[in-house]
Amino acid sequence: MSTPQPSFRYRLEQKEPRRGPGGLTRGASVREFPASIGIAGVSMRLAPGGMRELHWHANAAEWAYVVSGSCRTTIIHPDGSAYVDTFDAGDVWYFPRGYGHSIQGLGPGECHFILIFDNGDFSEDHTFSITDFLAHTPPSIVAQNLGLSADEVGRLPKGEAYFVQGPVPNERSPDARARLHAELMTKHRYPLMAQQPRRAPGGGTQRVVTVDDFPISTTMAGSVIELQPGALRELHWHPNADEWQYYLKGQAEMGVFLAEGNAVIDQFEAGDAGYVPMGAGHYIKNIGTDVLGVLIGFNSGHYQAIDLSEWLAGNPVDVLATNLDLPRDVADRLPKSTIFAAPAKM
Ligand code: MN
Ligand code: MN
Repeated sequence: MSTPQPSFRYRLEQKEPRRGPGGLTRGASVREFPASIGIAGVSMRLAPGGMRELHWHANAAEWAYVVSGSCRTTIIHPDGSAYVDTFDAGDVWYFPRGYGHSIQGLGPGECHFILIFDNGDFSEDHTFSITDFLAHTPPSIVAQNLGLSADEVGRLPKGEAYFVQGPVPNERSPDARARLHAELMTKHRYPLMAQQPRRAPGGGTQRVVTVDDFPISTTMAGSVIELQPGALRELHWHPNADEWQYYLKGQAEMGVFLAEGNAVIDQFEAGDAGYVPMGAGHYIKNIGTDVLGVLIGFNSGHYQAIDLSEWLAGNPVDVLATNLDLPRDVADRLPKSTIFAAPAKM
């Protein structure tokens, strides 16, 4: 018995973007992408000097991966400590739920990053922005709070700015000097692509960042996997987290198994988002002629996966022979350890 299932693919980069001075954004919450109940995602681009204004999110933490370019972020903690960090391609940031932050493109060229939020109901369009906050507070209160004159308060933005175009930050500024230390991890920055990947003989690599390596990231983990043409990220599931994907390059097929006879297979290309519910079995196969790259975010600080080969290898041969109705010599040829990725089959 099979019932209709939602698609686990959303064509994120084909969505009409929200545009503003110096930036554009495309988001996918559970409203646009009904399958993605537990995690939402955004693809955002900032021009040099373009700023995503000071804001916070009431109902989600923000985990991000920089696809290209460079940007600078600011963040405030409830204990009053503040951080300014710079990010380059391959870097990850994490902002806890409710912490105020901003992002600005540093140039040269656009900065493209993927934001992943640990709440499917989240919408980047409906966040708490500083301009919106001040515009909806009586001017006398704002004047009293900030020590400004009525005239000066009158010149503040009349509504939410969201994106603001400013000058490119000065290369001799303290923020720019911080970029010289790009190899160093900071409280909010983890250089994921600088990590030595796990390499599977079957033609796959995996880089993972969890709360163990990136202590502030308590509610989210992430990874980048790459697969050679024809290679298969083997059947597996995640006991502890939903999985939100952004396809960075290449072409893929993903199958998601939902039990009770239900499975959904979708095809993906660069710019698509994908989703796998917690505990659902799935595989990803590179069906293109180039390397496949997939960015993955999880709504747990810990990474857990059970791979099919690992599972089978942990069972006596007679269990496998009986369960799968295989002759014992065939059952004995099943994988004896985790393969993670299986090579292309000729
Ligand atoms: Mn944000
Ligand atoms: Mn997975």
